[in-house]
Amino acid sequence: MTSKAVTVLGSSGSIGVSTLDVLSRHLERFHIFALTANSNVERLFEQCMQFRPRYAVMVEAAAAEVLARRLRTAGSETEVLAGSAALEAVASSPETDYVMAAIVGAAGLLPTLAAARAGKRVMLANKEALVMSGQLFIDTVREHGAELLPIDSEHNAVFQCMPLDGRNGVEKILLTASGGPFRTWSAADLQTVTPAQAVAHPNWSMGQKISVDSATLMNKGLEVIEACWLFSLPAERVEVVVHPQSTIHSMVSYNDGSVLAQLGNPDMRTPIAYALGWPERLASGVAPLDMFATARLDFERADIARFPCLSLAYEAHTLGGFATIALNAANEEAVKAFLQRDIAFTDIPRLVADVMCQAERGTPLNLADILVQDEESRIRSLSWIKNKKAYSS
Ligand code: NAD
Ligand code: MG
Repeated sequence: MTSKAVTVLGSSGSIGVSTLDVLSRHLERFHIFALTANSNVERLFEQCMQFRPRYAVMVEAAAAEVLARRLRTAGSETEVLAGSAALEAVASSPETDYVMAAIVGAAGLLPTLAAARAGKRVMLANKEALVMSGQLFIDTVREHGAELLPIDSEHNAVFQCMPLDGRNGVEKILLTASGGPFRTWSAADLQTVTPAQAVAHPNWSMGQKISVDSATLMNKGLEVIEACWLFSLPAERVEVVVHPQSTIHSMVSYNDGSVLAQLGNPDMRTPIAYALGWPERLASGVAPLDMFATARLDFERADIARFPCLSLAYEAHTLGGFATIALNAANEEAVKAFLQRDIAFTDIPRLVADVMCQAERGTPLNLADILVQDEESRIRSLSWIKNKKAYSS
């Protein structure tokens, strides 16, 4: 078996670290071509020393200089590249086979698309990239013969429960949601949520942005849109089921009454190992599920009155691609502002709703239009935040 070359976009993050953990268990099958980070020199330095990639990319130029100096001093042969164009270069290089797309947010769009255009196996954690580019992304994968494997635990579960080819007999996707840390909080109490409370997820350990998204249920909203694109289904056939234990990672319901589910401990190394090994299975380091310790599986409906982000995402998907870009951009800016304590937790859906309804109708057909809509929505979001601050001070 020839060793597959892997590029990990966002290797310093939560998914990036889990990916390298799985890869470290299978160094006879994989080697690292490139690792990338925005600015975390310390983490990338350690990863380069351990995995000896050909390239390390740091988006921030000053950080790239520091990393290059440290690696040189340590005798490393890894070449350091700087800037976001280098992300696309390493994601699409003829020397890489697999690309883990684990950058957070819109910053991951261009390198992830570049990997798809170059016909790579794209392991997609960066859901925002798909939410922004939808049809264009799926078309690019098809046209260039890329392999698209979902890393998001729900979509990976659905992928595992789908028929081997086509959608024969599939009625519905049942997307499970933990409900986040505020599942049982009253609407009044949600107004007082602090950033520290919002990033403390009950079942999963993740980056800050997705942790806040899980708390507002925007994460589930983005995942509904992601599921529609990945599995070519309309939003009416993607249903959210709140399941606080996060043991069932998602389900597929069939026309004969069968419901197939994928279960496991909440650890992203399972979907990562599945995508790396597919169609084979690889050991991931995840402990087997103890059914007796699990004991119960509970289910309930999502409360869209307290968590309006979920219905905003359904609405955006119905409105079209411009609206989903606006939804994503406004949400990214809102989460940033919430973490900086510029707006309240309950302002997040308000800001998103306001910016989303200003988006054009329809769907952009090319990358330039996608990027313009993203930029305009961010400008609107920042002025919303500024007004809010002026009003509340
Ligand atoms: P994280 O914040 O832990 O890591 C983000 C990574 O992106 C880091 O390596 C960072 O350096 C890089 N990055 C940030 N801004 C960048 C920029 N402007 N340019 C280039 N690189 C940049 O995030 P995470 O939790 O690992 O999530 C990554 C993606 O995976 C997100 O899209 C998230 O929704 C998705 N995801 C994560 C989990 C999880 O368990 N963490 C589960 C499902 C999906
Ligand atoms: Mg998920």
